[in-house]
Amino acid sequence: MEQFKAMNSMPGAVRDIVYRINERCINLGYKAYIVGGAVRDMLLGVGLLDIDVTVVGDALRLADDLEHLFGYRFIAHPSFKTVTLNTGLNCRIDIATARREVYPKPAALPEVFPSGLYDDLFRRDFTINAMAVSLEGYHLIDPFGGKNDLQSGTIRVMHNKSFVDDPTRILRGIRFETRYGFEMDNKTEELAKASVELGYPGMLSAERICAEMEHVFREPRYTAILRRMEGLGLWKALFGAGKIPPSVYRKLQKIQKGCPGNVKFPILALLEGVHGGKVVEVFIAYKTLYRKLCEYSAREKALRFPVRDKMMERGMLYRLFNGVEKEILEYLYWTAYTWQYKNNIIKYMQEVTGFNFHIGGGDLISLGVKPGPRYNDLLQRARQEIVERGATDRSEQMDILKSVVTKGEEDLGN
Ligand code: ATP
Repeated sequence: MEQFKAMNSMPGAVRDIVYRINERCINLGYKAYIVGGAVRDMLLGVGLLDIDVTVVGDALRLADDLEHLFGYRFIAHPSFKTVTLNTGLNCRIDIATARREVYPKPAALPEVFPSGLYDDLFRRDFTINAMAVSLEGYHLIDPFGGKNDLQSGTIRVMHNKSFVDDPTRILRGIRFETRYGFEMDNKTEELAKASVELGYPGMLSAERICAEMEHVFREPRYTAILRRMEGLGLWKALFGAGKIPPSVYRKLQKIQKGCPGNVKFPILALLEGVHGGKVVEVFIAYKTLYRKLCEYSAREKALRFPVRDKMMERGMLYRLFNGVEKEILEYLYWTAYTWQYKNNIIKYMQEVTGFNFHIGGGDLISLGVKPGPRYNDLLQRARQEIVERGATDRSEQMDILKSVVTKGEEDLGN
């Protein structure tokens, strides 16, 4: 059997751990294999992040042995019979017991049973992810033609029910298409469309849709993924929402280019620009952040000033942005359409945040203002003017506070 030469691309220190895993497996009478994405990526010669090892044997028992002998620290997930080892080498190793999966109903999580390697490969999403490398001798095991599909750039399901059992696979398929420049073969695409038409993706829980979308936004070209989702009808099927408006795509393009890998910002852009359907329900974990963005937008509107088209003075910037979280400011910066607005945000961050105020409520008492709801307003006005004038000393700031109080009293007709 031909040796799997791509193993040489694995960092030496990781290979040592894999070697030890195999040694213990031989001792325990188990067989171990590298499976899934790691095999795919080694064959493609792209960077390797995580390694999945499947053992025909008990993964939890194996992990116990490895901990005992080599002091590794595994995190166990007993219900799935899997363990995770953080190698500290920018590479995680997951070890799982080989298993067969049975789907009790469409789009539900499967029931799993310990099994052999063939079943473990057959339960996978696509042929390119259904290859294994035996740790004894490093031979490639490819029962479903995954290597050929990898060479021709084809995304092919393992069987006709694949997208009924688990419609998240459609989205996974689109991710691999976009990431590697591959294409679904005709039958796989037909099956994806049929699953969409029959409404299976809509049966997925909001939590699972959110988790898959987070994976989407970790990809470098997620706008292409969203367009393909729309083309296949998957966007509508998952979110029950209309088309993603061009203005949202424009924002997404900016975020994709300006801060790749940031998952929160594209989700904020969708929450901001796509209304109706299940968008809010799916991204419920981002509700607090979205609320902060809405609060800012309301403040901007209330200001009745063209903050997006005009350079602003420091005092106005203070009024607009004071208290707005850094993350929201960054989002506004990356999605801004005008250079003026971008500059306003930079100016605020450079010249206004971190400004030291030496006045407070106590000073208002000493100036004889009766405690009450006016306090906040007076302090706010004073602070705006202090920032405007760049008054850094306490005495200058007190003078400003006094004049604000006097003016406030005149306004009240006192
Ligand atoms: P990525 O590079 O995005 O991490 P991956 O293929 O390594 O891709 P994982 O989510 O880590 O993705 O999954 C590891 C392996 O588990 C996959 O290669 C595939 O064989 C299998 N797998 C993952 N999700 C599914 C699924 N929904 N259905 C079937 N098999 C899956």
